[in-house]
Amino acid sequence: MMPTFAFPRLTVLALACAAGCALSLTSGSVRAAEAPAESEPAASKSIRPTLSKPPQFFQRKGEQAKEPGKDSAKAPAKSEAQGVSMSELADLIDQKISEVAAKRAAAPVVKVTPPASRAKRPAAVKAPVDVALASQDPLQQRLLNGRDVDWAYSGATGPDAWGQLKPAYRLCMLGKRQSPIDIRDGLPVHLDPIQFDYRPTRFRVIDTGRTVEVKFDLGNSITVMGQRYELVAMHFHRPSEERVNGRAYPMSAHLLHKSPAGQHAVVAVLLDQGESQPLIQQVWNNLPLEKHQEQLAQAPMDPSQILPAQRAQYYTYMGSLTTPPCTENVLWMVMKQPVTVSIDQIDIFHRLYPMNARPVQPTSGRLIKEGL
Ligand SMILES: [Zn+2]
Repeated sequence: MMPTFAFPRLTVLALACAAGCALSLTSGSVRAAEAPAESEPAASKSIRPTLSKPPQFFQRKGEQAKEPGKDSAKAPAKSEAQGVSMSELADLIDQKISEVAAKRAAAPVVKVTPPASRAKRPAAVKAPVDVALASQDPLQQRLLNGRDVDWAYSGATGPDAWGQLKPAYRLCMLGKRQSPIDIRDGLPVHLDPIQFDYRPTRFRVIDTGRTVEVKFDLGNSITVMGQRYELVAMHFHRPSEERVNGRAYPMSAHLLHKSPAGQHAVVAVLLDQGESQPLIQQVWNNLPLEKHQEQLAQAPMDPSQILPAQRAQYYTYMGSLTTPPCTENVLWMVMKQPVTVSIDQIDIFHRLYPMNARPVQPTSGRLIKEGL
């Protein structure tokens, strides 16, 4: 008899609290007034969104087995109620009210947390969107508002951020034919030899702030597959940007060429540690004392001195410039045979630029040819 009596009373109490009729309780009106104030919003929030939930609410009041927080407190109360008097039942009701009051103390945490988490989620979701729409990013907006921020090889403006620094750099992030790559699984074929038409030429050396660059006067060129490309400049990377079967070299030299139509072709020479290299020494000897200032060398330079003896063997693939704006449709020719540079020559460059190599980019199924 008691169980059938006690549970309807509890249910009625819960309903009364939910309806805001707490003041009808005469004894302990303060506690009762607190209880409905807590339980009402909690119940209404969980129930009102869907009409199918009110039955669940009543079931929970009776079962008390589905919500972990209520189980431990109410299950023992249920067993006590099965053999107690009306006075004990009053205590049980007081206990229920205390539980509700306790839940009220915990409720603000529940109430505050969802808006906080909701406030954070959109920001987290926006991040990848900003990758595609860089101008929406606050940092990007700041960068675009008049300030030209230099790209770098590390830090906040390092390779991972190049594509977001300027709209013109987006290919660095979105391009599918980027360089450098790890050269492997090339098709072994007989390639037409690169026709090098290099000769002693007047040159200038400049420390660009990211590498040491040699600028040549006009007159040097290569011809590949019937297309002539004029040699424009040569610069260096440490370590080598390109890898061959996963291996990087201490340095590499890039000889940048341009066709009359503006297409780029780069001849890459891998520089391994060994004997000193006379052309490299000539460049180091003409290093300007200040960055961004060109120094005109007194003696001419023959660019062919940087080429390996075996010039017929090279890897070739289509890629990009390895610095912003990461322009694609660049013809790459990586000489298979490395050229040696001395440890002292490497150390000189290392003191200026210990790391100026872009990480390897996905090959994405591009065709690589390997000359036999
Ligand atoms: Zn380069």
